[in-house]
Amino acid sequence: MAPQKPSEPDWLTRGLEHVWLPYAQMKLAPLPAPVVATRGSQIMLADGRKLVDGVASWWTACHGYNHPHIAESLRKQLERMPHVMFGGLAHEPAYELAARLAKILPGNLDRVFYSESGSVAVEVAMKMAIQYRLNTGERGRSKILSFRGAYHGDTLATMAVCDPEEGMHSLFRGVLPEQIIADLPRDDESHAALRAVLERHGRELTAILVEPLVQGAGGMVFHSALVLQRLRKLADEFDLLLIFDEIFTGFGRTGGMFACASSGVLPDIITLSKALTGGTLPLAATVASSLVFDAFWSDRPEDALMHGPTFMGNPLACAAANASLDLFEREPRLEQATAIAKQLARELEPCRTLKGVRDVRVMGAIGVVELDSPAERGALMKAFIDRGVWIRPFGRIVYLTPALTIRPDELTTLTSAICDALA
Ligand SMILES: *Cc1c(COP(=O)(O)O)cnc(C)c1O
Repeated sequence: MAPQKPSEPDWLTRGLEHVWLPYAQMKLAPLPAPVVATRGSQIMLADGRKLVDGVASWWTACHGYNHPHIAESLRKQLERMPHVMFGGLAHEPAYELAARLAKILPGNLDRVFYSESGSVAVEVAMKMAIQYRLNTGERGRSKILSFRGAYHGDTLATMAVCDPEEGMHSLFRGVLPEQIIADLPRDDESHAALRAVLERHGRELTAILVEPLVQGAGGMVFHSALVLQRLRKLADEFDLLLIFDEIFTGFGRTGGMFACASSGVLPDIITLSKALTGGTLPLAATVASSLVFDAFWSDRPEDALMHGPTFMGNPLACAAANASLDLFEREPRLEQATAIAKQLARELEPCRTLKGVRDVRVMGAIGVVELDSPAERGALMKAFIDRGVWIRPFGRIVYLTPALTIRPDELTTLTSAICDALA
């Protein structure tokens, strides 16, 4: 790691020898930027500079940072009860949140299982889908079908359902369970190919797992509601469960509250995390339909779902999530997402003609500039920081997923930094 400058805070210098950074070859990676505070859509660095945040901390901070309503709810909950175990004990924040999620999710998605991270929520969904077959007496149906370009998490079970090239399949060959990976049915040809895969493997499969409307960390690739309608039809025809991983798309990111509602396609299980607590605390939920839950409701103890993270339903995190849902009710978040979409489309469009740019696309509060070849991340990020913005490209993708509350002038700072830096 590069030697530190004397201006760096001493906690950074002291901790640097002991912290293991995410997704980084630490020998080569540039120093992480020390942050001392956040507010709205701004990140304050230790040296006094302020950056406009284009990423909302990995898409979580949908109301911006430090929203006073979430802060107040957290303060009250902290005084009353920061945590209590979920096994055998009940508390209002988690029960209230489950009832509210069931109410705002479409159809009969109404049974909420809590965990603390997106990857675990996906693992729980997979476990539900596998045990669903065991409980209904269908042996040998334990595989999951997922798609090229997918990202569902970093744990061992979820790595196996990520894109096989981008994901870590080759590195972990022999360790990951073998799942079935297909192309999304975007056109007649891929639709027929998927049907053929299902005809071959349908009896080994229990579920289809997909990120609806947007494949996020796998490349910010969009698809239409038609693709999801095809998946629902195929799932019904081959008697498969349909799992929507809405960890990225949930809570307004694509313009509607949930992709399942805006596409009109109802999954059997949905996973939520990222923006669930408005970007304040880790929390995830796997929400099952009554069809799935009913297979676990029986007189036989062995039909129970045997899962229970230690910090399951953490009261502080659930209080934050309830406060975040208040804000979706009280403030015009979805209108803000629509306005962001318009502004992103208008202001990123000029990038299309730049050399090295392959595509510009926008859906809801997601703006993407795709390059011909992988960006030189270090150089590009330095150019962004010099322009007063926090944007973190990956591979060929430079993207914006700002807070839904970002001001138009702040958004312009972000889009012009991208157009400028790429020019
Ligand atoms: C981020 C993400 C995950 C993993 O969530 P973690 O909290 O990082 O484990 C899973 N699925 C999707 C679609 C995601 O965007």
